[in-house]
Amino acid sequence: MSFATLNLNPSILKALAETGYTEPTPIQAQAIPEIIEGHDLMASAQTGSGKTAAFILPALNRLAAPSKMPGKGPRVLVLTPTRELAQQVCDAATKYGKNMRFKIISILGGMPYPVQNRLLSSHVDIMVATPGRLIDHIERGRIDFSRLEMLILDEADRMLDMGFVDDVERIAQATPATRQTLLFSATLEGVVGNLASRLLKTPKRINVSAAKDKHENIEQRMMFADDVAHKNKLLSHLLTDTEVNQALVFTATKRDADGLADQLSAQGHSVAALHGDMSQRERNRTLLNMRNGNLRILVATDVAARGLDVRGISHVINFDLPKFAEDYVHRIGRTGRGGSSGIAISFASNRDAQLLKRIERYTEQSIKMHTIEGLEPKYKLRTGPSSDRPRSGAPRSGGYAGNRGPSAGSGQARGAGYTDSRPARSEGFGGQARTGFAGQPPRERSFGSRNGNTAAPRGDRPGFGAPRREGSDRGNFNGNRSHFNSNRGNKA
Ligand code: AMP
Repeated sequence: MSFATLNLNPSILKALAETGYTEPTPIQAQAIPEIIEGHDLMASAQTGSGKTAAFILPALNRLAAPSKMPGKGPRVLVLTPTRELAQQVCDAATKYGKNMRFKIISILGGMPYPVQNRLLSSHVDIMVATPGRLIDHIERGRIDFSRLEMLILDEADRMLDMGFVDDVERIAQATPATRQTLLFSATLEGVVGNLASRLLKTPKRINVSAAKDKHENIEQRMMFADDVAHKNKLLSHLLTDTEVNQALVFTATKRDADGLADQLSAQGHSVAALHGDMSQRERNRTLLNMRNGNLRILVATDVAARGLDVRGISHVINFDLPKFAEDYVHRIGRTGRGGSSGIAISFASNRDAQLLKRIERYTEQSIKMHTIEGLEPKYKLRTGPSSDRPRSGAPRSGGYAGNRGPSAGSGQARGAGYTDSRPARSEGFGGQARTGFAGQPPRERSFGSRNGNTAAPRGDRPGFGAPRREGSDRGNFNGNRSHFNSNRGNKA
């Protein structure tokens, strides 16, 4: 199939030809005709599937015909959960619309209000916004949506996770009922489905599970790490590999991202941190440096997991695993961009066993264990019956040792919960070699529980009515912990 069959305006086809794309991705091939026909659409598509073009191309196609309405407000509104994603949408629109005349603006948290007020008082065709800041402007009566034809919710699941549901609904209510609404999300079930039923009119539904969604172009590896010092050694070793063109390293917290970036810089690496505490200007500068190859390593929190599109990233390294399986998929999707291949390496310790299982279940793939000669883990992964069984009646006292089941082996727990026998050589966590906490874990500790703060499982995550955290890093529950104080080890 070629783009030419999609009924797109010739100026868009010309720009596409210049990008070098030869054919639409599956999500583009399915979504674009439905959108051009004017249907509302709910599409499940992962980042990396080409979903941005799937909605921006038909949006531009609309702009190729003049508005039937007077006024100067936006004709297309794209809502994104993060500023980075908004930037990516703006970049895509500019790239695919390079042969057209239209005005695109972004209204994002962190930008000065006077600048945004000026932008809002001028003629606009496409507005890309994060919900929190947009609501502020709507409440101040600064936005005229009378011309709005198309509302696009990009990564709707993420917006709901970040507590934006009320804002998204209020924004939708501020737009004309005649609008066309498109919702893109990693999942269409649960709260996202509920939101869609309120905002969309008899939508077409598209589920794309392309090879890329399974990240078949990305080799996934897992390395068992005894403790933070061991992780640091593994990372140093990996980064000396000349195969690493550019690497994106994920940490659990902003503070850890800064700490690790400083540490790597002291080792002579060309490195920077990227997280939600940085100003938009700093974040843009850092991303530009990464894009043009001035930086080799970026140490980031999950704020960078979505929307970051740097082709040179050959390796994603999860220094800390993400708290949610979905975020794992988004993180590793930062490598293997645009059809290239990539390597994703995750460091995991005993406490991550449950999370690894969930990641494997979610991705329907097993992650192979790798070791580096001379840097093998000292301690053994706990083995024992699956802890997926109901936990009622499970002992609740803290510490891994006291809760180990009968098959957990004979090693003594050492504070952070390691045993002293050799590491299991399992081929992935979903397989025969069971890992993790024997019997019943002391608490649901697999997600973000390292300092005793247990993040809720996905279904219980803040969503409806939760305070919004625009530009913040989700799940930053460990803000006071430093990974780099080796004296503290993992006990924090
Ligand atoms: P997205 O899923 O929107 O984040 O896009 C992922 C990457 O795929 C971006 O680098 C796009 O430039 C690229 N891309 C989008 N559409 C195509 C296509 N039809 N062929 C090749 N690459 C594409």
